[in-house]
This record gives sequence, structure tokens and C-alpha cells, in this order.
Amino acid sequence: MNMSPESTLLLLLLGFILGWLVSKRRSRKLRRQLRFSNDYFQGLNYLLNDEQDKALDIFIQLVEVDWETIDTSLALASIFRRKGEIDKSIKLHQNLLARPSLPVDYKFRVLLELGRDYQLAGWLDRAEGLFNEVLKDDLYEQDALKHLMSIYQQEQDWHNAIRVALLYQKKARDNMRPVIAQFYCELSEQAYEQGDAKEAEALSTQALAVDPNCVRASIMLGQVAIDRGRYKKAIRFLQQVEYQNIDFFPLVLDKLVSCYRNQSNLRALITYLKNTERNHPKLSLVETLTDLINEVYGEQAAQEYLSARMMEHPSLDGLKKVVELNKPAADSAESYLPDVVKQLVEKQSGYQCEHCGYAANTLYWLCPSCHGWGVMKPKEMS
Ligand SMILES: [Zn+2]
Repeated sequence: MNMSPESTLLLLLLGFILGWLVSKRRSRKLRRQLRFSNDYFQGLNYLLNDEQDKALDIFIQLVEVDWETIDTSLALASIFRRKGEIDKSIKLHQNLLARPSLPVDYKFRVLLELGRDYQLAGWLDRAEGLFNEVLKDDLYEQDALKHLMSIYQQEQDWHNAIRVALLYQKKARDNMRPVIAQFYCELSEQAYEQGDAKEAEALSTQALAVDPNCVRASIMLGQVAIDRGRYKKAIRFLQQVEYQNIDFFPLVLDKLVSCYRNQSNLRALITYLKNTERNHPKLSLVETLTDLINEVYGEQAAQEYLSARMMEHPSLDGLKKVVELNKPAADSAESYLPDVVKQLVEKQSGYQCEHCGYAANTLYWLCPSCHGWGVMKPKEMS
């Protein structure tokens, strides 16, 4: 069942009140309880009437009267934060922290929550300070490490991101290797942009040592080798992608063509790509292979390959090549076909996140929508 934050809060508050009324029946406390109960309903009333500032003040006062209401206050703060009203969430958390009587069990939890408010508000230095303090507490240490990692990611402070990810991996026994490898790749790209190819190579090699399936590192090493004219070495790195993650193979196609072309060895590339296509039925190399076969062995061989391939695995990009090779005459009734098929292929191209479905024409190693690493892939051509 999906409930809105408001309904969740309402249930939470009613549940609390019922429990509280049942558990505290002693008559000598009755007067105080009644006042307390009235305040509670008043606070609830303000919330329902959207007078949140007044509600906030009441709940802050109630916490002082009875620390048992702290969970309700924390829930309220988290609803404010989810609604984007971070100032209110900050006010509530700061107020809780300012009370000398704050139960020690709650201190680190409130610090963590306030850190999350600060991070969302963009006060990263303050958030970092609070999360570092929370590291002292065993119960919330892992949460604090996760938030620190996301701050360093936001600040593109990759050295600290690696340090914290390693700590988190150790504490949580969670496999962070693919993410740590991405951090090394970020450093590698930075080094390459600054003209330090050696450092870029060393960092990408480090990424592969951390995660041997890091496609991004192999592509980087391939690109550095191409730029230095070391095509054999580049081919070795680029071909690794086939075994690391075949979904990313379309990313290395053009680079492979350029390497083999520079080595005047396109025949070997055709053999290699045909094998790759055979080994991975979902992968479509039909456009590249048709062009290469046409260039090396002539149009008849290209037509033969293409028709055999289309009989076996019909695909839109294959159809595009069929129309290209058998262009209708400009004055024929079918002259519109090449344009239509081209547009259909373009609609299917690009990249998409396999977690959240975010689609773009550029590949982002960190999905801008769900913030997952290495989850955006070239779209599958069908
Ligand atoms: Zn995503």
C-alpha cells in the first residue's frame, strides 16, 4: 500500500497517542497528561491545516516534556526534508541537539539526520564535520561512511571517496570494488585531461586491479595507447570488453576499426567481429560488419553477409544497411524509405540506465538520475 507522507505521519501520531493514553493511566499524572494530550492534538491540528511553523513549535516543546515523543519529532523532520522544507527539518534537529537532556542513544542519530539536512542544503563542509563525528558511534558508523562517500563524490574529491569507500567495504562487508574502480577512473581521466598520460595509465591499471571487469578502465587504456600510436596494445585492451561486459562492446567498435585500419589488417578485424557476433547473439555488429566487408571484399560479399544475417537475426540496423545497399531510385514511390529507416534507428540509439530507465544521447558513467555507477549502457538494437 502506498501512503503519502502526511497519512504516514497521521497514523504515526494517532498510534503514539493511543499507546501513550493506554500506558499512562495513573490519576496523579492525569492533569499533566491531559494538557500534554491537548497540545498534541493542537499540534496535529496545525499540521492538518498546513500551519507547519506552529506545529513545529508545539512538537519542539513536547519533546522537552517527554522524550518519548522524540521518534515522532524525528519522523516529522524527515517528512519536512522529503517535502524539501529543509529549514524546518534543520530547526527541529538543531533544537533536539541543543537540549542537554537529549538521551545519549539519540545523540548520534540526530547528528546524522542534521548532517543529511546540511548535505541537502548544500552545506557540505558542515555535513562532513557532523558525519565525521558520527563515525565514533558503532551503530551509525556505516550510515555516516555512506554519506561521507556521497559528499566526496559530489565534491569530486576522489582520493577521499576511495579512502571512505574502502572503510565502508570493510565495515559493511559490502562489495564496493566496482565503485572504487570508477573513482580511480575519474582520477585517471583527470590526469589525462591534464596531459599526464603515464599517470592516467597507472590509475586505470589500478582500477583494473581493484575490479578486473571495469570496462571503463580498459577503454581508457585503449584510448591512451591509440593516442600514442600503439595499436597492438590498444587492441588488447579494447578486446577485453568482450569478456568484461559485452553490453559495452558497441563503445569500442569505432576504436577497434581505427586500430586495425592503422595496422592495415581489416581482414583480421572482420574475422574477429564475426566470431564475436556469433558468440553473443544479442549483440548487433551488422552495420560495422557490412561496411567493413563492403570495403574489403566488395558489395556482393557484403550483400551475402547481410542477407544471411538478416535471415538469422532480423534487426532494424540490419534493415538500414539493406536499404542503403539497395537504394530505391530517387523518382520511385519508395524513395522515402532510407530516411524513414534512418530515423527509426536513431530513435533506438543512445544510452539508457538499466536501473532507473534514464535515457540520454551521452553516456554518463554515473547515472544523473539514480546515481548508480556503470549502470548506463548502450541501448540494445532490436
Ligand atoms: Zn539510473
